[in-house]
Amino acid sequence: MKIQERLKDAKRVLIVVDMINGFMKEGLLADHKMMEIIPTAKNIIEEFIKENYPIFAFRDVHTKLSPEHNNFSGLLPQMHCLAGSEEVDLISELKPYERQMIVIDKNATMGITSPITHSEIEYNFLSEYLVSLKQLVEVVLIGVCTDICIMDNAIPIKKTFDQLNINTRVTVPKNAVDTYHIDGIHDKQEWNKMAFRFMNQAGIYLPEEYVLERGKQKWQKEVYYWVIFMNLQWLKQITITEWMTK
Ligand SMILES: [Zn+2]
Repeated sequence: MKIQERLKDAKRVLIVVDMINGFMKEGLLADHKMMEIIPTAKNIIEEFIKENYPIFAFRDVHTKLSPEHNNFSGLLPQMHCLAGSEEVDLISELKPYERQMIVIDKNATMGITSPITHSEIEYNFLSEYLVSLKQLVEVVLIGVCTDICIMDNAIPIKKTFDQLNINTRVTVPKNAVDTYHIDGIHDKQEWNKMAFRFMNQAGIYLPEEYVLERGKQKWQKEVYYWVIFMNLQWLKQITITEWMTK
């Protein structure tokens, strides 16, 4: 299916955040433990592909001059994910899906206002696309890190929807996101928990795991109508029998 067709009137949108080498496999900010979410993330991606829902993938891509390198209060080594390095590539496990995703390079933790450079897409930013969708029921975010790029995108998306009276659900499945761990500096469990609390307060839906809600299939509807029909027949029979025995 062509990208434009998949984007048109989408009911659900998936955003895969920073599942790149620089955070999961190599480089100063990589934490291999976060690779544990890969199988879960792959399942969700495959479900979205099956349903022809659009999938966006954020990649953290900086230059040496990016102001973000100076953030994080000196808690982290700073230079990361420089353009042209292998750190900015999607992890090899996601490569098979890359052609079905719209990749957005972001120079900040938030990517919803980063320019979309895909030649076939008329929208300038992801935020612009999301608010244009009339049928959108859910935006799902998966990837890393829970307390940084996941939270820094999930909350602005939810607040943008709130501002415009859009009731679309913003979902962050807890088992499909993770953050890094540095002993004594950044406790993974604690920061995951804190991020979940902030996101919960912001109105974000945080299920333990993601279950894609599908509408009733055609055969399910047929069975449903058949059951109602048979029940009506049965009722009619009872009424007639009652009337005759009176
Ligand atoms: Zn960055």
